Amino acid sequence: MQWNILGHETAINFLNNHAKPGKTRHAYLITGPDGVGRETLALAFAKALNCQNPPAEGEFCGKCLACRQIDEQRYPDLLIVRVVEGSKDLKIDQIREMQQTLALAPYQSPFRMVLIPDFQHATIGASNALLKSLEEPPSRALLILTADAKESLLETIASRCEVLRLRPSSITTLESYLRDEIALSPARAKRLAHLAGGRVGTALSFNSDQDLLDAYDEALTDLGDLLNSRLRERLQYVERLQQRKGTSREQFGFLIATWLTFWRDVMIRREGADIPLVNIDQEQRIFETAQLIPSRQIEKILKDHENALVNLDANLNPRLVIENLILALPLLMVA
Ligand SMILES: [Zn+2]
Repeated sequence: MQWNILGHETAINFLNNHAKPGKTRHAYLITGPDGVGRETLALAFAKALNCQNPPAEGEFCGKCLACRQIDEQRYPDLLIVRVVEGSKDLKIDQIREMQQTLALAPYQSPFRMVLIPDFQHATIGASNALLKSLEEPPSRALLILTADAKESLLETIASRCEVLRLRPSSITTLESYLRDEIALSPARAKRLAHLAGGRVGTALSFNSDQDLLDAYDEALTDLGDLLNSRLRERLQYVERLQQRKGTSREQFGFLIATWLTFWRDVMIRREGADIPLVNIDQEQRIFETAQLIPSRQIEKILKDHENALVNLDANLNPRLVIENLILALPLLMVA
């Protein structure tokens, strides 16, 4: 087995078998959290089905024209349908358009393939439209969906797919991979493995995007400052946030999601749970904060953050959402 993917052995074995002639089904659903490698696996499957020079049955070379075009997402028989930038949903028109393509005979491949990442963002209309393709698939059609969880899709969709559920690797497995295969320093490998919670894609994005890592660190520094500031400084902070460039909904969402990882760590320390911390480089601060706040209050803070994310998503005024959250934070001022 030579798929060169970290972890997911069961899923790889399964798809490796399904890539052999006569074994392929019409629809697959790959689920798991963001950054766990769902799309990488889907593309590997496409390569296994189309490689011009496979080292063994169900394998792929990664070098032939088909393999390269699939990697670059410009293979003529592979259509990838995503949520359009600036939009939140996958729309019914996108599915209908895809269905016209799916009905055509493939150019060169045994299959006309369509990959739809994050199908949990499909509207009800789009989901119902897709059902038609699953109920009566064109003969050489192959659909691959990904989603955060099977439960986020209509049951009638999930039940018509071969479902593969991906889980994050263990932190130590990812840490060794980042150190030995990606050649990161031991300290960075450890930090990113924890930060990514074992999700290889997430670790690699943090590694290749220093701005993202800086923004993450800055968000945690801001939170530390806020916990030591009174009302007036907190309101001034919201004011400054408002003036940053970029849409506030996305920025605030990132801030709140980052803060949430800190509070989860605080809860883990407070409860003495044997779960790896996400922010391993902040261990001391997490420990100190956990000493100062009782569990019940940490629970409330966690809930406030989760609600804030839901409210942002539900189109509530972003400024109000973040202001309420920040004003409700405890004041830990030591001096
Ligand atoms: Zn190949």
